[in-house]
Amino acid sequence: MRSGSGGNGSNDRKFPGTGFALWIALAVGMALALLFTQQAGTDGQAIDLNYTRLLTMVEDGNVAAVTFRGDAVDGTLRAAIDTPAGGTTTRFTTRLPPAAGEDLMDMLRAHGVDIDAKPAAEGVAPWLLSLLPWLLIIGVWFFLWRRMTGGLPGGGLGGMLQGKVRKIEKEDAPNVRFADVAGQDNAKAEVAELLEFLRNPERYRKMGAEVPRGILLEGPPGTGKTMLARALAGEAGVAFYPISASEFIEVFVGVGASRVRQLFEDAKQNAPSIIFIDELDSVGRMRGTGYGGGNDEREQTLNQILAELDGFDGHEATVVLAATNRPDVLDPALLRPGRFDRHITLELPDLAARVAILKVHCRRVPLAADVDLDTIAAGTPGFSGADLKNLVNEAAMAAARDGVEQVTPLHFDTMRDRIIMGPLRTLAIHADERYRLAVHESGHTAVAYYLPYSDPIHKVTIIPRGRALGGTHQLPVIERHTLPEEYLRDRLAVILGGRASERIFLDSLSSGADEDIRMATQLARAMVGRWGMSEEIGPVDVRDSDEHPFLGREIAQPRRFSEETARQADKAVHKLLVEAEARASEAIEAHRTQVAKLIGALEAQETLDLAAVAAALGPKAVTAPRRPAGEAASGAAGESGIVRDT
Ligand code: ADP
Ligand code: MG
Ligand code: ZN
Repeated sequence: MRSGSGGNGSNDRKFPGTGFALWIALAVGMALALLFTQQAGTDGQAIDLNYTRLLTMVEDGNVAAVTFRGDAVDGTLRAAIDTPAGGTTTRFTTRLPPAAGEDLMDMLRAHGVDIDAKPAAEGVAPWLLSLLPWLLIIGVWFFLWRRMTGGLPGGGLGGMLQGKVRKIEKEDAPNVRFADVAGQDNAKAEVAELLEFLRNPERYRKMGAEVPRGILLEGPPGTGKTMLARALAGEAGVAFYPISASEFIEVFVGVGASRVRQLFEDAKQNAPSIIFIDELDSVGRMRGTGYGGGNDEREQTLNQILAELDGFDGHEATVVLAATNRPDVLDPALLRPGRFDRHITLELPDLAARVAILKVHCRRVPLAADVDLDTIAAGTPGFSGADLKNLVNEAAMAAARDGVEQVTPLHFDTMRDRIIMGPLRTLAIHADERYRLAVHESGHTAVAYYLPYSDPIHKVTIIPRGRALGGTHQLPVIERHTLPEEYLRDRLAVILGGRASERIFLDSLSSGADEDIRMATQLARAMVGRWGMSEEIGPVDVRDSDEHPFLGREIAQPRRFSEETARQADKAVHKLLVEAEARASEAIEAHRTQVAKLIGALEAQETLDLAAVAAALGPKAVTAPRRPAGEAASGAAGESGIVRDT
């Protein structure tokens, strides 16, 4: 098949059945043609004459014309004769006996009969006839295939037969601008370098300057990769060819490759232009690792992309952008010089960027006067641009549901909790259990309140939400990219504070600390194994897993240290945790009456904000040099500064 330049490919897309209908029409037409050729002579009125009768007719001068087709003759009479069926006709057919020859010709000529000859029909008809079953089989097979694949877009077999491949539609310059992409200043600056080139390719060409054309945008989902590519096209005001790489892949081997060829051809013709291949990893995974020993279609498509990238002569004003959140799985060939050799990383937004993104998305949202975007941003570490957009939208919808004029801080707070922890849960909680919950949460809160290096309290609640029965929320005051040891030790104590409180006020433990213990252990392991914060291990890397750069997934690592070291590390982790719990207990014991007050208040009101917490706990007894604390850099210290209790 070829990449079609002729015809309008988009037809098959709008009418996926066209290919099939064409086949049916073809088959029916052929069958009819066959019938006609087979029965041309007996077409209703023609009468069958034997040879003798024909000779008589000729001698009587009643034959006007004859046509020979092999040994079959058909002709017309000068005067109509009766047919066996009761009608009359001037048409007849006859078969010639073997010896009929020149005598017959002489005789016909003598009687002024018009003579003609045509190729014998029988020569063709049986051949066509034998083809008919095959046509039917192919037709049925194709029909079933269509049904099975649900009528793929892109023409499929119908399209292939007509030499067409669905075109990637060009978009006129999108109306997204760099200003709409908040934060991401590094990425924006790098992409902006292409802007001059796209606006004025001629100038670069004259200078003989070759502009890097394969640019890979990488970063976690929702950080604005797609948006940035669109903004570049919008700013430059050039044609934009967006495609998700998965759209290249078809059932038929080779379709994806020709689609790629078509795409690059079109984009070069419409230069200056931008090709944007989204989710490049879906087609650009390392070759030879596909399931079932490789995927021909995917690899051919990938090879074609590589070939097209190599095929630029360096002066076309076409830029190829691609985006992925899995740069680690890409085929190395894609990243070689001359291909996607320029990488731009988009990070999850930091505090300032989150504020900027919230501002962008709140532009058309009526906010109550007391809505503070800085506070919202502080409470949403780890949120991507897309998450923040979603938060604003959810808050606006909640306000609309409430039938109020403006979106309030409570709308934002509720929706934030819902996004992070899931919807509120109606759960019948027994009074004893409720008391235990209040004791547990008050423990987290009190330790967080009294210890010098922990983040300030935002609120504490015993209302079940998502998987959590209750939670203590802290708000980091500044963005932090490294975590100091004091902060981490306090954090451990806060996490274990719930359990310490249960032991102090109830003299028993419960399964409620399940998540706390998991979180604390994970954090302590990181402190010992990665950050060298124990005497036993010192500055030695003894991690047994690595975090995925973007997905935060743990990837098991082969262990590169001895059993002895492992045992020592375990001991160090144990020591850190026991110490932390002891510090938590100490802080609670030292303020037993105040904490009891907090427990009572929490039981009565279910949710307390910082003011209510401070009212119960009184002034901080421990006053250490107050250092600004920050959000967990790696997520290991507990997401969003929340201690959740499941
Ligand atoms: P990605 O392609 O990286 O997964 P998108 O570009 O599709 O992310 O982002 C999804 C949506 O999230 C965008 O349409 C935009 O509304 C919002 N968004 C993401 N990042 C930003 C940002 N930096 N500034 C403003 N909005 C953003
Ligand atoms: Mg995207
Ligand atoms: Zn807890």
